Amino acid sequence: MRIAKVIVDVPASQVNQTFDYIIPERFEAILKRGMRVVIPFGPRKISGFVVAISHHSAFNQLKEIIDILDLTPVLTEELLQLGKWVANETISLYITTYQAMLPQALKTAYKKEIVRLTDSRLADDLEQLFAGRDVIDYRELANDRDHYRNVQKAIQDGEVYINYVVKSRTTKKYKTMIKPAKEIHLLEEAFNDLNDRATKQKEVLSFFISHPAAIEHNQLKNQLNISTAVIKSLIDKSLLTKVKIETYRNPYADHRFEKTEKLSLTEEQATAIGPIKEAIAEEAHEVFLLHGVTGSGKTEIYLQAIEDVLHKKKEAIVLVPEISLTPQMVKRFKGRFGKNVAVMHSALSAGEKYDEWRRIHQKEVQVVVGARSAIFAPFENIGIIIIDEEHEASYKQEDHPRYHARDVAIKRAKNHNCPVVLGSATPALESYARAQKGVYKLASLTERTNKQAMPQVDVIDMRQELHAGNRTMFSRTLVEKINERLNRREQIVLLLNRRGYSTFALCRDCGHVQECPHCDIALTYHKDNHRLKCHYCAYEEAMPSNCPSCESNLIRFFGTGTQRVEEALTELIPHASVIRMDVDTTRRKGSHERLLNDFSNQKADILLGTQMIAKGLDFENVTLVGVLTADSMLNLPDFRSSEKTFQLLTQVSGRAGRHELIGEVVIQTYTPDHYSVQLASQYDYNTFYLKEMAMRRSFQYPPYVFIILITIAHENKIYTVQTAQAIAKLLMKHIRSDTVILGPTPSPIARIKDKYRYQLMLKYKNEPSLKSYIKKIIEHYGEDMRKNDLQLTVDVQPYQLM
Ligand code: ADP
Ligand code: ZN
Ligand code: ZN
Repeated sequence: MRIAKVIVDVPASQVNQTFDYIIPERFEAILKRGMRVVIPFGPRKISGFVVAISHHSAFNQLKEIIDILDLTPVLTEELLQLGKWVANETISLYITTYQAMLPQALKTAYKKEIVRLTDSRLADDLEQLFAGRDVIDYRELANDRDHYRNVQKAIQDGEVYINYVVKSRTTKKYKTMIKPAKEIHLLEEAFNDLNDRATKQKEVLSFFISHPAAIEHNQLKNQLNISTAVIKSLIDKSLLTKVKIETYRNPYADHRFEKTEKLSLTEEQATAIGPIKEAIAEEAHEVFLLHGVTGSGKTEIYLQAIEDVLHKKKEAIVLVPEISLTPQMVKRFKGRFGKNVAVMHSALSAGEKYDEWRRIHQKEVQVVVGARSAIFAPFENIGIIIIDEEHEASYKQEDHPRYHARDVAIKRAKNHNCPVVLGSATPALESYARAQKGVYKLASLTERTNKQAMPQVDVIDMRQELHAGNRTMFSRTLVEKINERLNRREQIVLLLNRRGYSTFALCRDCGHVQECPHCDIALTYHKDNHRLKCHYCAYEEAMPSNCPSCESNLIRFFGTGTQRVEEALTELIPHASVIRMDVDTTRRKGSHERLLNDFSNQKADILLGTQMIAKGLDFENVTLVGVLTADSMLNLPDFRSSEKTFQLLTQVSGRAGRHELIGEVVIQTYTPDHYSVQLASQYDYNTFYLKEMAMRRSFQYPPYVFIILITIAHENKIYTVQTAQAIAKLLMKHIRSDTVILGPTPSPIARIKDKYRYQLMLKYKNEPSLKSYIKKIIEHYGEDMRKNDLQLTVDVQPYQLM
């Protein structure tokens, strides 16, 4: 008897282990590790991942597996191991980690079908199963051992495939091709035998005699102006045959990618790429930090390194932050490697994502370019992993499992003996510190490939503007420079260093700020429907006309949402046309790209937006970049706020004058002397690094220590505090003497969705057993979490401290 060890789909800490199930005989030959199964769990039927198969179980009275969900493993051996590692490192559940590795469409809720790909005769059993149909429901396999085995074999032989039916069927997934069923001379014979009145049939035959390749059914019909019946009668005579070819929902179908050739590298580039190429050739694991200013040719280095990897018949994973995964970026990879590139992007539909994933799974592509989760691409022969803009916070997942893609990349690269390349103009402090220590190899690119200087940066003190009587959010310098550009018909990018929707209502008489009744946070004013909304829960209310506290009618909006900036801008410079990009204008699929295209085609003078416009964009005609509020991030309770400010300012400055035209940057700030603002305006990363490291050392923050943040949340405030204290006490018993526990203190946002939030911050240097101890604590509180609605969130190396 054989036993499957299964990680079951119950997201609770008490069941974070494998359960044993008997493999019924009908599945014995087909079940493999990495497949998903349906199993009984208590009174329920649930799904799970088979992580091991053995002959023994320490338990008796085992239940049987009910059904299998996959006929080919969806997780490779490596991914099974990796999932375990990620779960342990991030203190997450195995089940959530495995699920995070797969595309949404693979979730059991979706209907599956078996699609026949060929007209040639299948095994008898399969012919019976299909019974003349091209597509059958997966459920028709109905636990029949032979059916499963036959279908499994047919999948391997490429005769059928399993399609996961996703609701939005935007494009068809396979097309019908017609091709000769016999050799040409036999077609010629048939042609001569045909009755002269069968003119259409003769026409088709003569077409195939001169063009014996397969042609799409509809195209054939149109080209020869014939009916389906004509083709059918030739198929019935076994002269032609029908084949189905898989076509993928191709999100980039409308784009044409011109083939690009590799550039001859500059001296700096050649020096930087040398050791990377060596590591690829020698199959050595090594982490390279490629520190290069914007426009210094990092991407060309990635492309040429990947080329080496492809020559070795190996695969490449390229991670790009979600917001810079623009068509411009995709074009650079597809331009060089054509169809060999899959793109994994969150803006794709579930069906498109699944198709891209399947192309990787089937080894039809060797390169994947994608956002964070593409790090789990099911490649089995990885030759390089590249992370562009490696400092980006979006590489950290802010939900279970809270992994950092960089850590996963390094782990996978070790598994595959291959290099990792981390690229950035402003590396994360942690990464640069590792490079300084020699843990990573540092390669630097100091100049732009076009030898252009970085644009001149003007720092404007907004306090002085106020003194001079300018109450608008635009300094006189900025307005003047905008007008200059308008006269010269050049373009302008304006960045609002905020989330774009932080307009809140404040009473001018009593200072009352309208807050969410369920969360401790000000409500945000939405102009389109004149309502106040909470961005942490679903609460909203009508905008009051009088102050709820003092009845005054002097309620005003504060903060600067992009909408308000746009209004103020068009009031100040009525003849300028503006494209606004923020969460509101880019919600609809494709709108992000459309707005950028419009701007690129010079349909507007000014592109105004939030962080999402800061990265990856490259517009020839932009000669002025303005940052409206450089310091709004500096006031956040986050030890990375200076670093994030420096990174954003540097990045956005790089947007100006990337081509022939000389660029300029204006940074408006209330703290012009702050070192992040000063050093960013001088493009001085090294001084910033030293200064910031000194700060981190004196306040004991990463990279000098590691951090774990534990957040405790519950509706009852006293219970929340008590639980937090109890956890602190438990931890205290276990930690080393140089480990520090801060708290419990209320979280910066002290209440969300009616739950009070308290946090504990652990700072440590070396605590090999801390994670497993925290795991025990969570298990200890499992009952309270399930029955009493207690929330315990553990974030290892957190990026969000709110
Ligand atoms: P980064 O990724 O560092 O911002 P890119 O790779 O985008 O830099 O390069 C900036 C520009 O320089 C691009 O237009 C690119 O085509 C060009 N470029 C890169 N390498 C070379 C080279 N060796 N010779 C000429 N042009 C290059
Ligand atoms: Zn709320
Ligand atoms: Zn009031």
